[in-house]
Amino acid sequence: MGGFPVMRKSYQTRFEKYVLPEPNSGCWLWLGALDRDGYGRFSTYIGGNTNKIKSHAAHRFSYEMYMRKIDDGMQLDHLCRNKCCVNPDHLEQVTLAENSRRYSLSVTHCPKGHSYEDAYIKRRKNGGRKKVCRKCVKIYNTSYYLRKILMVKP
Ligand SMILES: [Zn+2]
Ligand SMILES: [Zn+2]
Repeated sequence: MGGFPVMRKSYQTRFEKYVLPEPNSGCWLWLGALDRDGYGRFSTYIGGNTNKIKSHAAHRFSYEMYMRKIDDGMQLDHLCRNKCCVNPDHLEQVTLAENSRRYSLSVTHCPKGHSYEDAYIKRRKNGGRKKVCRKCVKIYNTSYYLRKILMVKP
C-alpha cells in the first residue's frame, strides 16, 4: 500500500461536500463540476499551493480514496451506468477491452429510439467512446441534402 490513497484522505471532507447520496439507487451524485461527457471533476492543490491546481476524474478519485489505487492501465466501470456517480461500491476496475464490451451491451438504442444494431463506435480524442447511429446519420445527411437543394434555411 503506497501513500497515495492516504494522501487523498486529506481531501475527504472537501470531496464529500460535493456528494449527494441518492437513497433509491444508492448512487452518490456528484454536485461539483462535470466534464463534457458527464463525469465529475474534482480539483486538488499541489503541495497546498492554490495556484497549482490538479484536476481529477471524481469517480477515480473517490475509488482511490475509499478503496485502493487503480492498477495501471485499468479503467473504472460504472456498474450503475450513472456517469456522475462517485460511489466506490458502484465502481469496478476493468480492462479497456472489457469496459468497451460492457458499454456496447449497455446502450442499445440511440437518443431518437433507433436500435443500435448497426451502429458503429467512434473514438473520441479524450479516450471516450460514442456510438453513432447509422439511421440518424442517414436522416441528418438527407435533411442536409434537402435543405441544400431547396435552399431552406435551417
Ligand atoms: Zn451509482
Ligand atoms: Zn438514431
